[in-house]
Amino acid sequence: MRVVVLFLAYVVSLVMLAAAYGGTGDSAGTPPVPIPSPAAEDQAFSGFLKDFRATALTAGIPAETYDAATKDISRNQRVSDLNLNQPEFAKPVWDYLDTAVSPQRIADGQALLAGDADILARISGKYGVAKEILISIWGNESDYGRSMGGTNMFEALATLAYAGPRTSYARPQFLAALRMMQRQNYAAAAMTSSWAGAFGQTQFVPTTFLNEAVDGDGDGKIDLWTNVADALASTANVLSNAGWTEGKPWGYEVALPSGFAFGDADLDTAKKVADWAKRGVKTAAGGGLPAGDEPASIYLPAGAHGPAFLVFPNFKSILHYNNAASYALAVCLLADRLKGAPGVAAAWPRELQPLSRDERVTLQNSLLKLGFEIGNADGLIGSKSRAALRTWQKSHGLPADGYATQDLLTRIAMEARAKIAGK
Ligand code: CA
Repeated sequence: MRVVVLFLAYVVSLVMLAAAYGGTGDSAGTPPVPIPSPAAEDQAFSGFLKDFRATALTAGIPAETYDAATKDISRNQRVSDLNLNQPEFAKPVWDYLDTAVSPQRIADGQALLAGDADILARISGKYGVAKEILISIWGNESDYGRSMGGTNMFEALATLAYAGPRTSYARPQFLAALRMMQRQNYAAAAMTSSWAGAFGQTQFVPTTFLNEAVDGDGDGKIDLWTNVADALASTANVLSNAGWTEGKPWGYEVALPSGFAFGDADLDTAKKVADWAKRGVKTAAGGGLPAGDEPASIYLPAGAHGPAFLVFPNFKSILHYNNAASYALAVCLLADRLKGAPGVAAAWPRELQPLSRDERVTLQNSLLKLGFEIGNADGLIGSKSRAALRTWQKSHGLPADGYATQDLLTRIAMEARAKIAGK
């Protein structure tokens, strides 16, 4: 369960601050903003831990728990750096899926399905979640336990809670981690996590652990680090609570007819399968859509020129585990491959170059200049930016998929410049 919230405005301000400090821009008359020394930061971190002790005790954490959890921790510079890091390029979905649904990932998952068959049948039956989905989440979250993160959880969460863009996430997680330790009698040193505080075989965060983790093997303890039954049962419980309905499909790849109205191809737009069929949507093999009464959405991970998927409420329940559609798709596609299904039929538009952060900001500024109300140009193409792109595409006779490409950036930026010049 990764943390996908981005805080770009903060990072941009830091980049600007660093630029001013480095004197790369027009720095005349602008005194550099002092950056605290590591020693001063460490001292401030100690002060934070002391202040947070009072907060924790007020919240009912015993003093001995807090002291045992924090006695050996210090501000973690690597966590601080990762907290501020904003990748210049978002990985294209096809590259992400190459790793998430690799031949090795499929082979390993199939071996685990066979090896843990009894445990999986019991958990799948009890919670009503397909065993292939559980194995797939395990593979996607930690490569089946190979990469769970080795950072001291209290050091990671305290560093994030102390300062930076994730304090409002990390403070309740820090408290929840203390409560986990208190309730489960964990040794603090055994509580390891990713830099962002997600932990164990299926990468829970502490608040989700407190609300939804379960004892999968009935030994009276919950251990998501070393006990696979506990981890998979807890994951099944999360999906069950999120509305997964066993026996229903997550979705399947489809083929769209030429002239398809792409404006409706959005995860937020649901229609009956029969309605999509009337619009000419076929299976990937070109057949009629299977009957179904559940609301269905068209998901285009790479826009109009890549594969299309018809997705159902089960797909959306996976978004409760990790709110990124590409993640949910990776989980579902790997689960299908574990069952022996073939891979995606349509080709990915691998020739498309992803937009850099600067280019995304330029695209958004151009949309703003053209009068689209998309809020701030934050470099994150969200629902408002996509809606604006769809409107622009439609008014120019293009497939309105709302998918930002280099070609779209060039055309929209040119139109914005012409509009400004014409004033
Ligand atoms: Ca257990």
